[in-house]
Amino acid sequence: MAIRRLFIANRGEIAVRVIRAARALGIETVAGVSEADRESMAARLADQAVTIGPAAAAQSYLDGARIVAAALGTKCDAVHPGYGFLSENADFAASVEEAGLVFVGPTPENIRAMGNKLEARRIATEAGVPLAEGSPRVHSVQEARDVAETIGYPLLFKAAAGGGGRGIRIVRRAEELAAAFANASSEAQAAFGDNALFIERYIENARHVEVQVLADGQGTVLHLGARDCSLQRRYQKMVEEAPDFGLPQAVREGLHEASVTLAARIGYRSAGTVEFIVDVDRGAFFFLEMNTRVQVEHPVTEMITGIDIVATQLRIAGGEALNLSQSDIVFHGHAIECRINAEAPLRNFAPTPGRIARWTMPGGPGVRIDTHVEAGWMVSPWYDSMLAKLIVHAPDRAQAVARMAAALGEIRVEGVETTVPFLRTVFADQDYRDGRINTRWLEAAAERFVASKAS
Ligand code: ADP
Ligand code: ADP
Ligand code: MG
Repeated sequence: MAIRRLFIANRGEIAVRVIRAARALGIETVAGVSEADRESMAARLADQAVTIGPAAAAQSYLDGARIVAAALGTKCDAVHPGYGFLSENADFAASVEEAGLVFVGPTPENIRAMGNKLEARRIATEAGVPLAEGSPRVHSVQEARDVAETIGYPLLFKAAAGGGGRGIRIVRRAEELAAAFANASSEAQAAFGDNALFIERYIENARHVEVQVLADGQGTVLHLGARDCSLQRRYQKMVEEAPDFGLPQAVREGLHEASVTLAARIGYRSAGTVEFIVDVDRGAFFFLEMNTRVQVEHPVTEMITGIDIVATQLRIAGGEALNLSQSDIVFHGHAIECRINAEAPLRNFAPTPGRIARWTMPGGPGVRIDTHVEAGWMVSPWYDSMLAKLIVHAPDRAQAVARMAAALGEIRVEGVETTVPFLRTVFADQDYRDGRINTRWLEAAAERFVASKAS
């Protein structure tokens, strides 16, 4: 049954994004906000705003019981979880359904199947999807040492419950193993309440490439092509592009096919992303994880396919079948997204909360801004530091890079320090412009940026 009134269980730009998609479909919206977000853009744009709890996310955006009660209390018939927060919490999705509401996303079983990386690796193996060499759960430093002897260095410790780059530690030499194990497991415990770790072989010259899938839960599973998200700091993405570029055709086709196979295998429903690491030197790819939600970087795929991914989530959740086949998905040009964060690049990207005094964003053909920020907005220390996503679209990659460089040049933000000055140097860099990048490129560029300011 089509959704009529939607509860938005998130904040920031994604809350605004979901409100816009709903409005375009004639769906009413209720923004569930914390006390810190009462004056937010999402609260203003929604048909109604309701306070769900205090600023601390544990008692608001992460409190599933309060959210379900608020959704029922405001006569909503569906809940959109956005990304982060409760979006990949299978128990939350189940509690939404048990309350008689529609969860705009995959089934609780889908989320459960992919939510734990060890379980996801097991399912991917069964589906014939290639994986980087890795271990089952390692319970102790001694077990880790035994695994390291077969896999070799460098290797990664990863949190089985991980996400957002947390609980990952690289180990280059045996001497570093014990400290890395302790750090990764305590970070995983703090972030996810689960300290289970496993080991994966680390690929030095790697690209992060991920495939957007759409499935209606009624038999149709499609892919919307791939994105390159190799530009990362601390395993978190900063710049994303679509389509992927510079990969052999066989790798590209292999990624698409593996993603559709995996999604079909678990009877997936809604939008999802299958993430891979591409070993550039060997021309091979390996499954990393599946994110069972809309992703931050979904707009680059929207720009090159013309498909509104959030609206499609809402239609699928309303019971519609996808009236598309794979050959209907056509790709136009190249899109790039920059995450603009309230962070100080010269102070190790420390968050810079504060009041926005000036907020001038770029415009013109092929420029899109997804944001919740406006002049006067107080950037809260309680939440993620992302202020906006700047997305450009152009006929090819070179023109998209030029368009991004020009757009970044137009930005004027005062009141809080942002990552814009650093991003400008990325788009001026010849290696980046020529596509000579890997997952370690951005951290080296950040070091060069700091050094250039110090001299
Ligand atoms: P990945 O986890 O693969 O990096 P994304 O790139 O889509 O996936 O980023 C999602 C991450 O964004 C979450 O894991 C979280 O750290 C962060 N996040 C969560 N909620 C918000 C929000 N409302 N605004 C900005 N960032 C958020
Ligand atoms: P998360 O759930 O935190 O997003 P991922 O498994 O998706 O964790 O990995 C995050 C990032 O860490 C990847 O995008 C990639 O840059 C890096 N990474 C993960 N696994 C490997 C690996 N085996 N070799 C090299 N880099 C890796
Ligand atoms: Mg990931």
